[in-house]
Amino acid sequence: MQTVPTLNNPAPLPAGLDSMIAKSSNRINAVDKRIINGQTDVNQLVPFKYKWAWDKYLASCANHWMPQEVNMQRDIELWKSPNGLTDDERLIVNRNLGFFTTADSLAANNIVLGTYRQITAPECRQFLLRQAFEEAIHTHSYQYIVESLGMDEGEIFNAYHEIPSIKAKDEFLIPFIDTLTDPLFRTGTMEADQKLLKSLIVFACIMEGIFFYVGFVQILALGRQNKMTGAAEQYQYILRDESMHCNFGMDLINTIKLENPQLWTEELKAELIELFHKGVELEYAYAEDTMPRGVLGLNAGMFKEYLRFICNRRTTQIGLPELFPNQTNNPFPWMSEMIDLKKEKNFFETRVTEYQSGGALDWD
Ligand code: FE
Repeated sequence: MQTVPTLNNPAPLPAGLDSMIAKSSNRINAVDKRIINGQTDVNQLVPFKYKWAWDKYLASCANHWMPQEVNMQRDIELWKSPNGLTDDERLIVNRNLGFFTTADSLAANNIVLGTYRQITAPECRQFLLRQAFEEAIHTHSYQYIVESLGMDEGEIFNAYHEIPSIKAKDEFLIPFIDTLTDPLFRTGTMEADQKLLKSLIVFACIMEGIFFYVGFVQILALGRQNKMTGAAEQYQYILRDESMHCNFGMDLINTIKLENPQLWTEELKAELIELFHKGVELEYAYAEDTMPRGVLGLNAGMFKEYLRFICNRRTTQIGLPELFPNQTNNPFPWMSEMIDLKKEKNFFETRVTEYQSGGALDWD
């Protein structure tokens, strides 16, 4: 005999519908998301939890640019003219490209083969995908400059093996990149999570936050004197991208710290402080090597001050003390204008393409 369904004894649902309802009970709650060791589905971008990561993704896309939009003709003429640049200025360009041509490939590999796998928040993964493409654009940009100027490609692309001040910076970074790109590396233990946090800090704060800055200042200083303006314009865009990478990295680090306060031990802090000191030392050695004499109104001593100044900013932004509390002066205040400039008002007045036109696609 068929029973009459009641509130306490409902009729069975039609086939199919019950499984749909069963799925809905597994839907993601934003509060359950975690930056590392999360258990929620990494394929579902929404509901948003880490809105800061999504906002940085949108801002990065709005800043899109491509190297070949920048006209290199004036740079080529200057580079090829026997009296166009001094030997010291040429050394700066050579060393810069020597460092950067491979640095952004290291950065890209670190993201794609390392960091990305360990991050379980889809909003952060979305930013990392954009960041990886930007690292490719940066490598493209350096290649474009090297090719445009007809430089010795073998010399430039091998500089990270052959030039001691460049090699030393990369050798400092490689163990941290290797940690993350090791296919067997997994987070989930205190030791592994601390290793990840340390590598993220080395990458965002020391590599992208310190090791790029002597080079950026040098090429932008050339541009400010109306030299190598096509290269300088590209460096300006790269600087803007990289300052976003560095800021994203610091937000990522600080959120991991908030979610996992047990990782932030006195031992880890002491180790990080050592690493920052070493990073500043290596970048200063690079400044001395690339500027054996004063050039462009710059000298190595100014870089010592500048590196101490930006190191203080990086360490305090992730909750470490200032390592150089007496260094309150920024010898290159114009660098912040370089980061903040909007593309349509770019300093070097070369060609501009505006990508901030989200509604441009029209099907009519
Ligand atoms: Fe970067």
